[in-house]
Amino acid sequence: MALILSGKEAANVFKKEISIKVDRRLKDKKKRPHLAAILVGNNPASSVYVNGKVKDCAEVGFLSTLIRLEEDVTEIELLKNIERLNSDTEIHGFIVQLPLPKQINEKRILLAIDPMKDVDGFHPENFGRMALGLPTYIPATPYGILLLLEYFGIDASGKRAVVLGRSNIVGSPMSILLSSNSKFGNATVTLAHSRTHDLELLTKSADILIVAIGKPLFINQSHVKEGAVVVDVGINRVDGKLKGDVDIDSIFNIASAISPVPGGVGLMTRVGLLMNTLLAADDRE
Ligand code: NDP
Repeated sequence: MALILSGKEAANVFKKEISIKVDRRLKDKKKRPHLAAILVGNNPASSVYVNGKVKDCAEVGFLSTLIRLEEDVTEIELLKNIERLNSDTEIHGFIVQLPLPKQINEKRILLAIDPMKDVDGFHPENFGRMALGLPTYIPATPYGILLLLEYFGIDASGKRAVVLGRSNIVGSPMSILLSSNSKFGNATVTLAHSRTHDLELLTKSADILIVAIGKPLFINQSHVKEGAVVVDVGINRVDGKLKGDVDIDSIFNIASAISPVPGGVGLMTRVGLLMNTLLAADDRE
């Protein structure tokens, strides 16, 4: 029977630690950390994510500002909003919630964010710093996963890890971090994707399997080694319900630990963002 890697449990503990640090900042006459988010359009999933982030800020004692822009906003107008946040000394960090409507060039937007305020860690400068092991904002989802593993005492060092999915925001940074020479890393990592051959053979060799492909219940008993730790990043809406990329029921008696969906990585991603915002505030004072 697998241990459930509860993001809810871990997130509550990390959020308490963050709120203690906020109290300490206030005692030291420092400002409350302040996170801003730009939400473009009415994508229901994006609205849910951003509202969750705003709620988290209130819970840990951060200030938050939500800027909502219409679905048909021009790229120039969005860039103006980014410029305003870049130069606003009251804002420590901000995010532009993805995905963006098709008239907007996502890469241009991410490049416009001041790397010092890029608490999502998506700017190339921050990604490069992460890859080189320099201090930076680690992308929130991989950061949250590392914190989840740490919370449940799972050490990646010397393990064989397989990361499924190579997106710039999850799979690729996850593979870099797990293979890095750091307290969270030192695993031997393979990064797999849609062109990978013999996927089952590969995933079955994993001590730690991180799945971020966006295919509901794709991973099952034929992919998982006895005793493996399985982290399910996927968020898929099936018949109005949230499903992960992993068929948790089919591997429950095979894996040693599994993160659930919902209640797993999603909540930890939000913790990663809070951690980065706190760091942004600390860096500025
Ligand atoms: P993308 O949707 O950008 O990319 C998916 C990746 O999976 C690609 O690298 C793709 O390969 C690979 N892939 C797709 N199908 C297969 C397959 N059959 N076998 C092997 N690899 C495959 O990934 P994201 O990282 O943005 O999102 C992945 C999932 O994670 C989604 O469900 C998303 O909603 C969720 N997510 C959850 C977050 C959270 O906080 N819990 C945060 C971010 C995302 P290729 O590159 O070859 O096309």
